[in-house]
Amino acid sequence: MPNAAKPIKPAKPITPVRHLVLVLGDQLDEAAAAFDEFDPALDAIWMAEVAEESTHIWSSKQRIAIFLSAMRHFAEHLRARGWHVHYTQLDDADNPGTLAGQLHAAIAQLKPVALVMTAPGDWRVLQALKGVAHTTKLLLEIRDDRHFFSTVRDFAQHAKGRKQLRLEYWYRELRHATGILMEGRGADQKPVGGQWNFDHDNRAAFGKNGPGALPPPERFAPDATTQEVMALVNSRFADHPGTITTFGWPVTGEQALVVLQGFITQRLPLFGQYQDAMWEGELWLYHSHLSAALNLKLLNPREVVEAAVAAFESGHAPLAAVEGFVRQILGWREYVRGIYWTQMPSYLDRNALDAQEKLPAFYWTGDTDMACLRDAISQTLSHGYAHHIQRLMVTGLYALLYGVQPQQVHGWYLSVYVDAVEWVELPNVLGMSQFADGGLMASKPYAATGKYIQRMSNHCRGCRFDPGESLGEKACPFTTLYWDFLLRHETLLAKNPRMLMQLKNLTRLTPEKRVALAQAAQAHRAKSAC
Ligand code: FAD
Ligand code: SF4
Repeated sequence: MPNAAKPIKPAKPITPVRHLVLVLGDQLDEAAAAFDEFDPALDAIWMAEVAEESTHIWSSKQRIAIFLSAMRHFAEHLRARGWHVHYTQLDDADNPGTLAGQLHAAIAQLKPVALVMTAPGDWRVLQALKGVAHTTKLLLEIRDDRHFFSTVRDFAQHAKGRKQLRLEYWYRELRHATGILMEGRGADQKPVGGQWNFDHDNRAAFGKNGPGALPPPERFAPDATTQEVMALVNSRFADHPGTITTFGWPVTGEQALVVLQGFITQRLPLFGQYQDAMWEGELWLYHSHLSAALNLKLLNPREVVEAAVAAFESGHAPLAAVEGFVRQILGWREYVRGIYWTQMPSYLDRNALDAQEKLPAFYWTGDTDMACLRDAISQTLSHGYAHHIQRLMVTGLYALLYGVQPQQVHGWYLSVYVDAVEWVELPNVLGMSQFADGGLMASKPYAATGKYIQRMSNHCRGCRFDPGESLGEKACPFTTLYWDFLLRHETLLAKNPRMLMQLKNLTRLTPEKRVALAQAAQAHRAKSAC
């Protein structure tokens, strides 16, 4: 596509370059270790937009746009500092379309003495870049990612010798190590409020009046750079999932701080209480919408946690809400990263439940009469966002009960969300949501009937199915598939003490009902697959 107003002008190359600093689309942080000792007179930065990153999985338009726009803004920012940025745009005539191909070309032109980068977030990309260093016989120096509170080495040490990994222990270790929401010193150090976890105060449903009038979160009208990216995405990736007209995500560090501030002021006080609640047509609710900004490194998790803790200390937000929020970032986010890097690459192939079904086609359109799935998928495709419980207990739960092959589920989640980067997406999907790692990440499968969704949302009120029915015309597919799931995996799940209560209910089923449930589940699969 001709590009009349390119925002990023090519800078005069320095040759030979001392260090070529490689910056990936999810490494947009000037404080990253890769920039330590950066000397603008000697060093250069390499950034590349390549088609491979949008096509190795069928990336949604919103996801492609946020990465490209944020990269272009970051490159502009570095250039404004007078740093030499060797930047390839997606539509540049000589773009080879792969990170490896583009890096080879840059090395031939700039003749760097060495390559430097911050550890990437994706195992596949790390292998590709190592491969280039190997064939060009250049040193590739990979520096720790200081963005996180912990290192992968810390996690590996924590995991050493443990048969099972549990978030709670890792989270407590990090609370001790960082002093976040802790009081006292040394051996007397205790969690603020006398307990580690305020889950029992959190996780309420909205009640019949719904979430109330909550102001929408900060969104940003696309500037010239983002508009150019949107046009490019629309022309180059027209057949990719989702729409882009609603794009309003933060694409700079300044914008991300505005979203953070809006969340702390308006949403944090009720974050914990309504963390798991859902409501038809309401996609933002009490969540922070900061995951994409965090994962692209526009925002530092320390600033986010500090802002939340300050809100507690000033009396603006209760401890239960703040602890619940801090646990997501200091706990879960660090935990899944540790799991990813200590388990890859074999983690990608895990399929403990031997699930082999294809992902139903409606995941790419939202075209289904199951109201909860229609709502979660439609907003995902229109905004690249769904909150945690929609991902875990609607789209994830259905795929688990249906028996979709976990790698296909992984492909979908990596494609559609603006915050999807493999280190965080894969353990959440394969481990937490699909139980494909056999219990490494979660102590039991998140399996439930449609009654869970009924309790946490108003979706069932407008649905043609009944969550209380497992057989017949009105049977809720979640409920039918739930019983079928337990029946199919009865022997395997019986080894898990945390499943015994759920499995006990199977004893109430007559042999005829067991057969009827299995047949109904199979009939539903046959219909959904069309
Ligand atoms: P909030 O609810 O406001 O939470 C605050 C922050 O905590 C998030 O921004 C995020 O950085 C962090 N966080 C919360 N839960 C988790 C978690 N389980 N793992 C890691 N960090 C967490 N998160 C991603 O960032 N990228 C993904 O690709 C992704 N895929 C997921 C797939 C599945 C099946 C599930 C169950 C969860 C996934 N998550 C993913 C985790 C979580 O759902 C999102 O981080 C969250 O919904 C993002 O919205 P938010 O920023 O409004 O989060
Ligand atoms: Fe979803 Fe079942 Fe409720 Fe319909 S009845 S909204 S399919 S849980």
